Amino acid sequence: MSFPWSTKNLPKQLFINNEYVDSKNSKKLECFNPKDNSVIASDVSLGGEADVDAAVAHAQKAFQSWRKTTAKERRDCLNKLADLIDANAETLAQLTRLSLGAPWASFGSFEIALAAEAFRYFAGWTDKFAGETYPQEDGFLKIIRNEPLGVCAGIIPWNGPLGNVGMKAGPALATGNTFILKPSEKTPFSALALGTLIKEAGFPPGVFQIVTGEGSTGALLASHMKVQKVSFTGSTATGRRIQEMAAKSNLKRVTLELGGKSPAVVFDDADLENAIAWCANAITTNTGQVCFAASRVYVQEGIYDKFVQGYKAAMEDKGKAAGDPDAKETLLGPLVDKSQYDRVLGFIERGKKQAKLLTGGGRIGEDGFYVQPTVFEGTADDAEITREEIFGPVSVLNKFKTEEEIIAKANDTHYGLMAGVFTQDINRALRFASDVDAGMVGINAISMAFLSAPFGGTKTSGVGRENAIDALRMYTDKKTIFINMAKL
Ligand code: NAD
Repeated sequence: MSFPWSTKNLPKQLFINNEYVDSKNSKKLECFNPKDNSVIASDVSLGGEADVDAAVAHAQKAFQSWRKTTAKERRDCLNKLADLIDANAETLAQLTRLSLGAPWASFGSFEIALAAEAFRYFAGWTDKFAGETYPQEDGFLKIIRNEPLGVCAGIIPWNGPLGNVGMKAGPALATGNTFILKPSEKTPFSALALGTLIKEAGFPPGVFQIVTGEGSTGALLASHMKVQKVSFTGSTATGRRIQEMAAKSNLKRVTLELGGKSPAVVFDDADLENAIAWCANAITTNTGQVCFAASRVYVQEGIYDKFVQGYKAAMEDKGKAAGDPDAKETLLGPLVDKSQYDRVLGFIERGKKQAKLLTGGGRIGEDGFYVQPTVFEGTADDAEITREEIFGPVSVLNKFKTEEEIIAKANDTHYGLMAGVFTQDINRALRFASDVDAGMVGINAISMAFLSAPFGGTKTSGVGRENAIDALRMYTDKKTIFINMAKL
């Protein structure tokens, strides 16, 4: 089967029961190109109640046979999908880039490869997520099975339109669930294009479906009585609503991957160049639109002045690589759209009244939603720019004296997604790693994730974990079977 999709032939229909179909809802989504705010399409399907109900009904039916497939059958579908994603990576990245603006060299290729690798990684788990048995000395042998939940939904944000799909659909399908994807209204095209590849990979109808739409479409899934699980990535505010809808409907299982305000802590003995490189990369990758971006940087007083000089220069260099995301040499693209641009610029303008602007602070060029990599220095602990997730290439930089002081500051946030510590002293690094309240901690590195290790946050950064064996646990329930061993 050839891959029909391109920027000239965009997928705009829902993918239900292995077919592209028009939404029954007459309302449509409008999508924009962030490099010049031009309209890409005004007729992308917006799933309404009848569409969601149809997808759920197909998924319920498909679940009855998909759950009984062999591990090998599920593995083969997932591996084939991974191969097809790789084979069509450039086109998929173009479809993402059109509405996200992520350049191929700095984020576009990474994001597509992550999706393929996630499907491959979870394909490898299909025959390894074994159950348990417990002893029979009390007269009963206990067998524990990992049972799939049923129809699962994945609601995802715009900043990782395909990477997020692999991290959610991969474990859901590997464990025998059926899966309905709800992409972000801002970036629907690459996810919708997957439909062709899902069919070609051999997934039976109803097993893996895609319903594009806005928040209301996600809400229909989160409150649906026949959806047994929702895995959500997005803002903390929406995450709260999802958990509420889950509780008020059928008490469906919920995984939440939410926002962050992640601290990078640089001690006097750190390798300066390494710390600067990680901190600058971590707040500019995908134009800072990354949940675990190092948006609070704390540097010890002895190395502070040198760090400031190097970090400022590194951030200015990042700004020089801004440009048309379609050009090969571009590393920094625009923000995703006007509302995100207005939001980030709002934080920057208010920030100018709260702290010293070290660098950046404005727009790049006249067209599109480009923002200079921006650093504020000496911000108060309670300043808005210190506390709120900005979700753009904007960081706050502050000086500290002691280890005790910096642990308290690092933890002074309602978020707890990621932290980083830069030091040559392994004892100090491990003390920091154990005392900091975050789901993930980098030592001499920050803002990274691995498919083989749990991914997620503490406090308002989320509930549950993605990746690794933990993701499989999030899509299954334990069933205890006990056998009476007495001679009957
Ligand atoms: P968002 O919460 O606005 O939207 C995310 C998704 O939820 C979209 O698909 C949207 O249509 C849907 N949605 C919106 N309202 C809904 C509702 N009431 N019910 C159900 N679904 C609804 O988030 P966003 O602006 O797309 O993404 C940015 C946020 O995502 C940031 O806060 C960022 O930190 C977070 N994020 C977190 C992670 C992580 O893994 N922790 C990764 C990426 C992004």
